[in-house]
Amino acid sequence: MTYIHDTIVRLQKTSPAQAEFYQAVEEVLDSLQPILETNEKYQKHAIIERMVEPERQIMFRVPWVDDQGNVQVNKGYRIEFNSALGPYKGGLRFHPSVNAGIIKFLGFEQIFKNALTGLPIGGGKGGANFDPKGKSDGEIMRFCQSFINELYRHIGPTTDVPAGDIGVGAREIGYMFGQYKRLTGNYDGVFTGKSLLWGGSLVRKEATGYGCVYFAQYMLEAKGDTLAGKRCLVSGAGNVAIYTIEKLYQLGAVPVTCSDSSGTVYHETGINLDTLKELKEVRKVRLNEYVAAHPEAKFIPAADYPADGNAVWRIPAQLAFPCATQNELSEADAKALVANGVIGVSEGANMPSTQDAVEVFLDAKISYGPGKAANAGGVATSQLEMAQNASMQRWSFEEVDEKLKVIMKNIFLNASETAAEFGEPHNLVLGANIAGFRKVADAMIEQGVV
Ligand code: NDP
Repeated sequence: MTYIHDTIVRLQKTSPAQAEFYQAVEEVLDSLQPILETNEKYQKHAIIERMVEPERQIMFRVPWVDDQGNVQVNKGYRIEFNSALGPYKGGLRFHPSVNAGIIKFLGFEQIFKNALTGLPIGGGKGGANFDPKGKSDGEIMRFCQSFINELYRHIGPTTDVPAGDIGVGAREIGYMFGQYKRLTGNYDGVFTGKSLLWGGSLVRKEATGYGCVYFAQYMLEAKGDTLAGKRCLVSGAGNVAIYTIEKLYQLGAVPVTCSDSSGTVYHETGINLDTLKELKEVRKVRLNEYVAAHPEAKFIPAADYPADGNAVWRIPAQLAFPCATQNELSEADAKALVANGVIGVSEGANMPSTQDAVEVFLDAKISYGPGKAANAGGVATSQLEMAQNASMQRWSFEEVDEKLKVIMKNIFLNASETAAEFGEPHNLVLGANIAGFRKVADAMIEQGVV
């Protein structure tokens, strides 16, 4: 265990004030113990020391002019973490909470997630501390253009291929691609998550949510169970949450909650998907408006949440799908879920459960799908978008969905078989981390000290 302690202490000194990054590193290193102990080669080649240090970190100023004519300045980031398996691949997040530590945690997780998909993609992540809420379309466009005025020189279809994440959807990708094209003169597959009108892939929008539900389905199937009739808690009301809810309905489950930063909607008979899409995809308003259309549903304002957690996880249900953001599910929330009889948790968001919460799930031996496995459907379908762009093809919805199902099944099998190989068959955290690590580490060794 000393190497974990030593690594974290070193990171705290060399990369100060990056709590989420240390948390992600600690979780991975903790589960790598069995493989590191039995394989001297990883130590000899300083794999851990190299893996926790990004290959390249780009931080830049993003100046833009708001609708009142005032100059605003944000901080932009692109962390190119690891390219052992392919070009850097990972989303861009626009949210006021973004800082170097958050982008580094996301980029670090992305390395293992991308390796698990079995596709040739490395790990990266980026974004800005820009808050898209309340901004006009013109402001969003000017911000995206300024962001790309710096980023364009670092990205490309065979070097670094960004996509969306929190606050970045097809509209933002459109503005960024337009500016990239203007600056470089290239019409190429430099972004994924593009509009279907000009190079986007069918199913990309739905992929993270759908994939997260497929992952839950495979976890349940392995125990002889199905999703049919299961009451499900979903957090978030964005891209991942909406398509998690859609797929849950398609597979016969009943999602009863969704949430945003203003609070949680609890609709006993099931969330109305049309209303949710209208509020979030069309009108882009707060979730408290949901109860105006459905007075029988309950809205729990964020101000009324328990001090030690999140109201959404205190509602009794059989399955939970955290699909909002990091550390949104505390140890107390995990205990409440288990006490209420939850049998499975599949993470659509990145690192939504705190490390203590994860321990609660593992101790209770419920089916627990960590984000880097359960939400990998998004990046996997991004890679399918890259493949279609590079070969100038367009696959049907059914074709892409079928490939997504196969990829999610393989991720589940890879994580569970690796967990079994190391004597902890129920521990998909260990299985996912070791399976992803092994692939990247062995590729790094073969590529020499670079
Ligand atoms: P969106 O921006 O579409 O939606 C995010 C949702 O989460 C919103 O409802 C938002 O509410 C809520 N949320 C965000 N931050 C907070 C917060 N601090 N407190 C409470 N609620 C919050 O993002 P996505 O759906 O794309 O992403 C959700 C999660 O899934 C993230 O962890 C992301 O990294 C992960 N992910 C996304 C992928 C993708 O393909 N999009 C791929 C893999 C993982 P509000 O609007 O009020 O802020």
